[in-house]
Amino acid sequence: MELLKQRILKDGIVIGKDVLKVDSFLNHCIDVSLSLEMGKEFKRLFSNCTVNKILTVEASGIGLACSTAQFFNCNVVYAKKSATRNCTDDAYTSPCHSFTHGNDNILRVSKRYLGKGDKVLIVDDFLANGCAVNALTDIVKQAGAEVVGVAIAIEKGFQGGGDALRSQGIKVESLAIIDEMNEQGIRFRD
Ligand code: 5GP
Repeated sequence: MELLKQRILKDGIVIGKDVLKVDSFLNHCIDVSLSLEMGKEFKRLFSNCTVNKILTVEASGIGLACSTAQFFNCNVVYAKKSATRNCTDDAYTSPCHSFTHGNDNILRVSKRYLGKGDKVLIVDDFLANGCAVNALTDIVKQAGAEVVGVAIAIEKGFQGGGDALRSQGIKVESLAIIDEMNEQGIRFRD
């Protein structure tokens, strides 16, 4: 998606060789009109799919998931990363290593909000090694629901998570795939 690629080139900051900071428009300060354009593009890319629920993970996926849900006319469920004192529900859980924080989390989704028959689109801001998407996919399977596809704003292709999912036959659509980046520049996949 040209609009997103141009914004990454303008405002993205590469840290080291594998972290891209886009918090001026995607995951700290959110450019809502760009977020809605991305949601509209996901609707076009998944136009032949039935989706009745969007699943993401807190916190940075929530904004994009809500923008996308506007176009699918469905609810968003987000996986929580830790059990809170008011989290008394029976839940599906799956372990996940956080790429950016370097720690391990247990992702948790209440059994009340995901179940058999749900057709789920997984949405996230980034796809790197694929740990977050794999944990969400595991949760969908535990619920007896179906992953219709995976919709990602920025995939770091050089980390391999997206291609591993595609090789399993999962429909993964990323609006910008970065095959190489460093402090001098960013190369997108054609
Ligand atoms: P994965 O689980 O695929 O290795 O990493 C995806 C998750 O880590 C996303 O939910 C995202 O929040 C975070 N993430 C991975 N790489 C980056 C990055 O370069 N920049 C930012 N801001 N977040 C990232």
